[in-house]
Amino acid sequence: MKAFEAVQHYFDRAADQLALTSNMRTLLMTPKREVQVQVSIEMDSGELHTFIGYRVQHDDSRGPMKGGLRYHHEVDLDEVRSLAALMTWKTAVVNIPYGGAKGGIAVDARKLSHRERERITRKFIDGIHDIIGPDVDIPAPDMGTGPEEMAWIMNQYNKYHGFNPGVVTGKPVEYYGIPGREEATGRGVGILTLKTIGRLGHKSQKTRVAIQGFGNVGSHTADFLHEAECKVVAISDLSGGYYRESGLDIPDALRYAAANSHSLAGYSGGDHVTNEALLELDVHVLIPAALGGVITAENADKVRAPLIIEAANAPIRPDADDMLTNRGVRILPDILANSGGVTVSYFEWAQNRQYYNWNLDRVRQELDRVLTSAFEEVWNLSQERQVSLRTAAFMVAISRVGRATVLAGIT
Ligand code: NAD
Repeated sequence: MKAFEAVQHYFDRAADQLALTSNMRTLLMTPKREVQVQVSIEMDSGELHTFIGYRVQHDDSRGPMKGGLRYHHEVDLDEVRSLAALMTWKTAVVNIPYGGAKGGIAVDARKLSHRERERITRKFIDGIHDIIGPDVDIPAPDMGTGPEEMAWIMNQYNKYHGFNPGVVTGKPVEYYGIPGREEATGRGVGILTLKTIGRLGHKSQKTRVAIQGFGNVGSHTADFLHEAECKVVAISDLSGGYYRESGLDIPDALRYAAANSHSLAGYSGGDHVTNEALLELDVHVLIPAALGGVITAENADKVRAPLIIEAANAPIRPDADDMLTNRGVRILPDILANSGGVTVSYFEWAQNRQYYNWNLDRVRQELDRVLTSAFEEVWNLSQERQVSLRTAAFMVAISRVGRATVLAGIT
């Protein structure tokens, strides 16, 4: 099943519960606009290279479209289209006034020099500046991009349209960014993990957690849950997994990774496990926070955790999702679980438009408020209708987007 089909599958399941007509389904799932641009730059070697850049704008019925910009060699239109649709449902489930979009360039960012990254970013903005903007479509970082690229985007866009810091979020804090944006997705995953285990009647002190991925999302999640006295027994990254039955010393692992170019390679604070074995550990909570598609029909039956929090986008394939749900495994879906990042992006945009600075305490408080309210709504609907948390999250989101579409007038 391709990436967009997987989103369509979850959408249809929720649409069935909502008894949505087929015309409305087509209207809500069809992207509003898809743009593909040529991005030709001179490499440091003097050679000319041509890359392909994409921006898919899925839906704007609830506000300007919002979504990250990914630099990865596997980026293609189908993937960008599926991630753009997920953004529509993500912004709707947390009820922030945005639609959904996503962009990407098919390039291996690790092979680009600093100057090449700058040239490619500015050239891409030259190609799409007239279809983005603070009231239209607001990019943000995603895999392979970060605050630096966002600063270049703002600067390049401003050359065409004048001073507009709200055209992009995830900017450096000292350049119109907001404190707490970097930690926001992982912190949100942590907040929502505690809410879910609380509803399931567990105490954080007794909860054993395994986290796959120790990048931005995984490391901040581990930090938050360790502070909350959960026992984080396993972490991992590209170098493999690290396991300690009595709980890992997370502050030590964070210091190690920070001093080691963000890698856990060579970490000796736990026994080695493979990334595959980490998914099958006997823990209360499993948090995939690295790649999509890591839990499949092949390994779903070996997953022992009764609760999975989808920190990564689409870490569970739809057939595996059915297998897990059928045997009672609870899954907090990506559109809610990792929505902390886009929520704090929204605060950054609001701050930019107010020309007023928010402090970290306020950001954290507001993040907690938004996520708590979204969680309660999804949890209660899932209980009331006896559907999975994923279906409930899609139902909340689709209802909001559908209602806005109808209120605005469809034709
Ligand atoms: P990142 O690049 O900072 O970190 C990724 C981590 O995964 C690294 O530790 C890397 O070593 C590890 N990894 C890569 N390949 C792996 C493999 N084969 N096995 C195990 N580990 C592997 O990325 P991130 O920003 O932390 O994003 C992680 C996931 O969360 C992605 O799916 C992303 O789309 C999603 N996400 C991120 C944000 C955000 O704000 N950063 C928001 C929403 C969703």
